[in-house]
Amino acid sequence: MKALIRYSHLPKKLKIKEIPLPTIKNSKNEAIIEVKYAGICGRDLEHYRTKISKKKIPSVLGHEFSGIVKNIKKNKFKIQKGDRVTCETVKSVCKKCNLCKSGFYNLCKKRKNIGGSDCGAFASHIKVPTEFIHRLPSNVSLEEAALIEPLAVCYNALISNSEIKKNSSVLIFGAGTIGLLSLKIANYKKAKVFLVCTPDDKMQKAIAIKNNVKNIYFSNTDYVKKILKDTKDKGVDLVIDTVGGIDKTFCDAIDLAKPGGQITKIGWFMKKDVKANFDNIVRKNLKIQGSFSHNFKIWENCIKLLSRKKIFIKDLISLKCEISEWKNAFNLLSNRKAIKILMSSNEKIS
Ligand SMILES: [Zn+2]
Ligand SMILES: [Zn+2]
Repeated sequence: MKALIRYSHLPKKLKIKEIPLPTIKNSKNEAIIEVKYAGICGRDLEHYRTKISKKKIPSVLGHEFSGIVKNIKKNKFKIQKGDRVTCETVKSVCKKCNLCKSGFYNLCKKRKNIGGSDCGAFASHIKVPTEFIHRLPSNVSLEEAALIEPLAVCYNALISNSEIKKNSSVLIFGAGTIGLLSLKIANYKKAKVFLVCTPDDKMQKAIAIKNNVKNIYFSNTDYVKKILKDTKDKGVDLVIDTVGGIDKTFCDAIDLAKPGGQITKIGWFMKKDVKANFDNIVRKNLKIQGSFSHNFKIWENCIKLLSRKKIFIKDLISLKCEISEWKNAFNLLSNRKAIKILMSSNEKIS
């Protein structure tokens, strides 16, 4: 089958290459899924732009996907050939540590991921562990299902790791997929949303407006002053920081969170020397919460939100294309001219 492969550890070394179709032989714990849609994530773009370890070569990218079960042995999860499914990003975990035993295998130290290893979703087929597959209700489309992974990231951050009451004020930094899905969850929780985006985020801003967000600020303005003014100098109950690679948003979050408030960090700093006023965290009695990945329960809850039509996410899909058009898709996303792009292989393999 054809797959989008990272063929060198040096940056920007991606191409479509022919690789063997994955097989499961007699494994009862694995399944082959025919990929219908695979979303391009910020992590895929980051993978493309940076140098990686030689040990990871060659690797297939793509970890947000949906599809149809193509090959599976009889299993206790009752997943069958032909089922419409999506799957978590876990390739393997140790199953022995306390985190694994208590269902928080997303935090297992031995965890390995799909997408950026020998299996990824930018291909016609992918091999996955059966236990991490989720069956889709008939009223959840395969397009929407390809967005459940980022939705689960936001569910973990805003619902599992934060507390949002009706009319809580929630400030979101960043208007990428994670920022906009966070906004939709905050809306579902009936919070009052504040959003900081970049001046290039034209499509993103339009979606925020359509989702009833009135307080939108550009990152190149003095938004700290404006948000303080708009909250009558109180600040906000919760800050969701989805931005990666900088510490400015985190510093501003400390200034903008109410005394006793919380900052939930999703975006990675990508450096160790973070410069922030940590004394203000103490003085304001702030709670700093990291939020990483997701687990089985969170995925099932996200599927329920979609199936019960509590949350509408299709408006984030800017484009659907074939994996052969990956370069154009990566460029659109890098220039913030698209929010989520779904790729399909459309390669006919019987
Ligand atoms: Zn992702
Ligand atoms: Zn473990």
